[in-house]
Amino acid sequence: MSVLLLLATVITMSEALQCSCNCQVVSRSQWHARTPKEIDYISTPVNMVFIHHTSMDSCFNLTSCIEEMQKIQDFHMDTRGWFDIGYNFLVGEDGRVYVGRSWNREGAHTLHFNRVAIAVSVMGDFMQRLPNNLALDAVKNILDYGVCLGKITPNYRLYGHRDVRETSCPGDKFYQLIQTWKHYSHTKPSPSSIIG
Ligand SMILES: [Zn+2]
Repeated sequence: MSVLLLLATVITMSEALQCSCNCQVVSRSQWHARTPKEIDYISTPVNMVFIHHTSMDSCFNLTSCIEEMQKIQDFHMDTRGWFDIGYNFLVGEDGRVYVGRSWNREGAHTLHFNRVAIAVSVMGDFMQRLPNNLALDAVKNILDYGVCLGKITPNYRLYGHRDVRETSCPGDKFYQLIQTWKHYSHTKPSPSSIIG
């Protein structure tokens, strides 16, 4: 390894060490995740983020959010037939971030964009109401953390699932809100312009 490369590695490592999420992260082992059937990796940083809702139950404390995570994983693996829970990260209205496939694993969340984007999904249905502030802060904080870690580019573009697919996701109310967020992009990405 050259001195320059070594130096670059040390700098990158020390930058990553200075990153900490201003959020509580619940690891896969903490929510008793099942082992993925298969794992495909993506290269990071990605420059796109998709926001989803699960359109299933809301949860407001650790115990019920863990139960919900297990339910979603079972649904995705057994009914949908996916390798694992679809999203990279999920957020509960307990304000915690639950690790799905994490940063470097290809998700099953946004058709045509799974290899080039990270997806964060808030547990619940947000057609009629917004996620609470605890959940909204957690979404923002995990994305900031991803930028700090170098997993998401600093100028990333943020979208709602419905921006690229006929779906109500992430819910009318939540979709209205994310359109006011700094990274939201009104320029829709086209699937033909990306690989995978
Ligand atoms: Zn969605």
